[in-house]
Amino acid sequence: MAKVAINLSTGTIQKEEIIVGIDLGTTNSLVAYIHPEEKHPIAINDLDMGTIVPSVVHFKGAGEVVVGNEAKEYLLTDPAHTIYSVKRLLGKSYQDLGNHKDYFGYKIIDDNTEGMVKIRVGDHFYSPIELSAEILKELRKRAEHALKTPVNRAVITVPAYFNDSQRQATRDAGKLAGLEVLRIINEPTAASLAYGIGLDPSEEKTIAVYDLGGGTFDISILHIQQGIFEVLSTNGDTYLGGDDFDRAIVDYWLKENNIPTAELTQNKELLQALRLSAEEAKKTLSQADNFVTTIGNITCNITRATFEELITPIVQRTVQSCERSLSDANLRKEDIQAVVMVGGSTRVPLVYRTVSDFFGKEANNSLNPDEVVALGAAIQADVLAGNRHDILLLDVTPLTLGIETMGGLMDSIIPRNSKIPTKAGRQYTTSIDGQINMKIAVYQGERDLVKENRKLAEFELKGIPAMPAGLPKIDVNFILNADGILKVEAQELRSGVKQHIEIKPQYGLTDKQVEQMLMDSITHAREDVATRMVIEARTTAEQLLYQVDRFVQKNRQHLTNEEIATTTAKRQRVADLLSSDNQEKDTILKAVDDLEETTRPFAERIMDISIREAMTGKKIE
Ligand code: ADP
Ligand code: MG
Repeated sequence: MAKVAINLSTGTIQKEEIIVGIDLGTTNSLVAYIHPEEKHPIAINDLDMGTIVPSVVHFKGAGEVVVGNEAKEYLLTDPAHTIYSVKRLLGKSYQDLGNHKDYFGYKIIDDNTEGMVKIRVGDHFYSPIELSAEILKELRKRAEHALKTPVNRAVITVPAYFNDSQRQATRDAGKLAGLEVLRIINEPTAASLAYGIGLDPSEEKTIAVYDLGGGTFDISILHIQQGIFEVLSTNGDTYLGGDDFDRAIVDYWLKENNIPTAELTQNKELLQALRLSAEEAKKTLSQADNFVTTIGNITCNITRATFEELITPIVQRTVQSCERSLSDANLRKEDIQAVVMVGGSTRVPLVYRTVSDFFGKEANNSLNPDEVVALGAAIQADVLAGNRHDILLLDVTPLTLGIETMGGLMDSIIPRNSKIPTKAGRQYTTSIDGQINMKIAVYQGERDLVKENRKLAEFELKGIPAMPAGLPKIDVNFILNADGILKVEAQELRSGVKQHIEIKPQYGLTDKQVEQMLMDSITHAREDVATRMVIEARTTAEQLLYQVDRFVQKNRQHLTNEEIATTTAKRQRVADLLSSDNQEKDTILKAVDDLEETTRPFAERIMDISIREAMTGKKIE
């Protein structure tokens, strides 16, 4: 059913309802749409307040909430009621914040659970979802005001690194703001769309998207072919951005003026004033060669050359991430055909030059770097509205997804960097006779042992009909949808019993942690493989002991005393190795082999007896 909307500004009937694209940023947010007649994306600039809405929420008295530039003014005067950077808290628990807790000027509650954080403002407690919803409501209001038509549906962007719970939290925030979120898409994917890269189906390209915002940095490598956008790799740092440039300038001014840093901890007003002037200086130096201002009796002076010297180490850290993302994608710099610049901080000339030099080509910066993500989201919205048929979007999963198997080993189902949406599965069976329940524990990570990885969820497949070990066939399927949300299904094929869960993990991972997990998997690769082999040997040994015991118990009458004695001795050797916590895989496997060799002839003989008895009508067991 087609929807009809009347555009009140032009008085014309619009066949398609407008779906907006939203960049919900850590520092700044904005909303864009495709102009129905002109067919190109435009960022909404309501009442000439500019297109950018600072992602700041301020609670005035009497339950009044303000968002954006007006709220930003209270950062200085009323920090306890003024919430910034809420995107950092989306889908996270208190523990997830680690040593970044001091970063926030407002009160974050530690309720000692793994649940999502709450923020205390006066006597009220808010979740990051509610606070993000306030920003989205403001964007929606501005869009409705500018377009003079109801806005009910949106595409919202998230960093490529966002995990399931962060994506889900973003979706929930949209819902709370009264928006139907048609799709969550990755910011770099949106940015490349804005540059029109891939809109021509005959074009094939590998590109890099470099996004340096206020407090976060992301680099993504995309491959585009026949209108299909595929994210080959992502890398970055969640605590690196333009704010660090500002801080470097503040520190420089303090040093120049012989003001001890300790003085600032007492004088928050001065700190804020310095920070604001530093940001102004930085922006000015993107054009000019020099900046001077005074704060009280302090003279704050800085040249572009000094500024560049100060920020070189910070910019170099982004280059290291670029190197890692290239090697993750198995590419060399020369393979990158275009570089796209995103985020306000890419306006700094040194950043532009460094990135262009690194990739050996001039980076694309013709579009407004603050707006590109929202513009691309609007293009995606247009695709979903059915106005373009030539584009499809593919993303990748940043970490391997798998389940726990015997001995606490990780069995990977969807390997990291797999394209999504995707579906993969594997068949398992029981290890104990008559087992009627099976635990399915889902993990994310690159290590061989699940305890080194991150647990996403656990559930139990119940009601498996009692059968001998090894007989049930249990299919476990992972379905990862286009939003990056994982559904895990388990089914016992003989009986048809089935169970599934949708995973919205309680708390998420920071980019740092994802990066750390990848690094750990590389540095621990050798020992991981060794540990896995020992565990597999020990598991085999345990399984064999179980089978041998069962066999001897059932068939005692068919075995001679001597046979029982040898078996018991060999069995004991294996059991001793296991209980002594032996870690020598070869020793264990040798004892296992010994025991198997000893029992095999009896097993074969007894099989014959069983068959004979079965033929003569006797019950086997
Ligand atoms: P986010 O994606 O994190 O919400 P943005 O992409 O909006 O952030 O980038 C915000 C950052 O860009 C801030 O640190 C701001 O100071 C910086 N910025 C904006 N304009 C300029 C400029 N002209 N020169 C240097 N930095 C700028
Ligand atoms: Mg951004």
